[in-house]
Amino acid sequence: MAETAKILCPEKTVLLPDFDAGCTLADDCQPDDFQEFLDKHPDHFAISYINCSAAVKAKSDLICTSSNAVDLVKQLPKDLPILFSPDRNLGRWVERQSGRKLTLWPGRCLVHETFNEESLIKLKIKYPTAEVLAHPECQENLLDLADFIGSTSKLLNYSQKSNQDKFLVLTEPGIIHQMRLKDPLKTYIEVPGLDGCSCNECPYMRMNTLEKVYKCLKEMGPELKMDENIRAMAYKPMKKMLDMSN
Ligand code: SF4
Repeated sequence: MAETAKILCPEKTVLLPDFDAGCTLADDCQPDDFQEFLDKHPDHFAISYINCSAAVKAKSDLICTSSNAVDLVKQLPKDLPILFSPDRNLGRWVERQSGRKLTLWPGRCLVHETFNEESLIKLKIKYPTAEVLAHPECQENLLDLADFIGSTSKLLNYSQKSNQDKFLVLTEPGIIHQMRLKDPLKTYIEVPGLDGCSCNECPYMRMNTLEKVYKCLKEMGPELKMDENIRAMAYKPMKKMLDMSN
């Protein structure tokens, strides 16, 4: 996210409270390995989910978010072969929604892969009227049990507009705080990881504590710096996404 801010606004100062606060999707898709993937499929168009490194963005043809991925894929010529990286679950969901065959990079989000059918079904039995809200980074068998699938912002909007008052939330539980702020009268239940563990909480997101944000603002650092060549190359597929989204 910090890199994306820098790619789009190079003249601005971008601070990152903890440089270890990464993402398994970015870790799973190293630039050299990604280049090999591209070399194996030279005639393919490379779409990368925004949760990847600046170096991978720089090698991509188009960036997408979980909100616009389906729409962007539908806009591409039907005979254009497509590589989709790095989240295989999001890629599979985009395939189903768009009716297009994609060649998928095998990356995954460690948080969304901890959800399991057994925990979800137990909660569905306990709360039979609750609607299941899922992020498309979840595995296919869980998405099949969802009432609504969408990006974080779409899940938030849906929970507000729905006539139901209980929701089982299949994504990083930080979103529940936002849901409660928007509509405190509804009940939001986080689906736990296997055996009720709290591995559904992203360890990277949790690294950005209030204390670190305070220190970072006070000291105006650490600051994210980026090689201008990579930034300029990564900007092109980002700009393409913005143009196609208008
Ligand atoms: S929940 Fe954490 S690991 Fe998963 S996509 Fe978000 S930042 Fe990456």
